[in-house]
Amino acid sequence: MSKRALFVSPHLDDVAFSVGAAFAALSKAGWHTILLTVFTQSVPEPTGFALACQTDKGIAPEVDYMALRRAEDHAAAEILGAAEVIHLDHAEAPHRGYDSEAALFGAPHEGDDLELDLPTFDELFVPQGIGGHVDHLLVVRATDHLKARRYRELPYGLRPDAPEALPGDAFAPSGRKLDACAAYTSQLDFQFGGEAAMRAALGGAQERVSRRAPGPSPDRGRAAPP
Ligand SMILES: [Zn+2]
Repeated sequence: MSKRALFVSPHLDDVAFSVGAAFAALSKAGWHTILLTVFTQSVPEPTGFALACQTDKGIAPEVDYMALRRAEDHAAAEILGAAEVIHLDHAEAPHRGYDSEAALFGAPHEGDDLELDLPTFDELFVPQGIGGHVDHLLVVRATDHLKARRYRELPYGLRPDAPEALPGDAFAPSGRKLDACAAYTSQLDFQFGGEAAMRAALGGAQERVSRRAPGPSPDRGRAAPP
């Protein structure tokens, strides 16, 4: 039976942007690769800041924004050669009372805890939380006790104020990765300033994955909010 690699993505795009080349390489090498995204729940009729997070990406209010992004994720997963795609039913931070950009990159609210029920794996890839987004910090907390490879999030890791990379392995970006990233159409303008800019930014950025060491605490691995 083939070995199982589980990649945990806080949002619909983080794994592809950050470790898409490593994911594609393992798929190609015959691993059973699983793309699991934590915060993917559809929330009907969002209002206020949550709605603004959708409309500022040019998505009309009546569109099911998360359904659209789950479809993008399936398209990306196919390009990456994923054997399995899992969308957990947790709501993104703007739907859990984080009502501003500052709140998204502030401390997790009291009682806002995340418990993860993960499928079995031989290798686990989880984020480091370097961008300081609260959803990423919750995933770091929920996986802190697990022996895992911890990937440095992109594009956060490209910022001049990003923390130093932990010792580990580097993977060169691949064409397959960049094509998969291009499938997240709704995020490209906001995150990079368009597809060409995404290809330029991620095409020049090595993926960095720490070895199976204990994880960084959310505070230690954090960059200052923008
Ligand atoms: Zn994210």
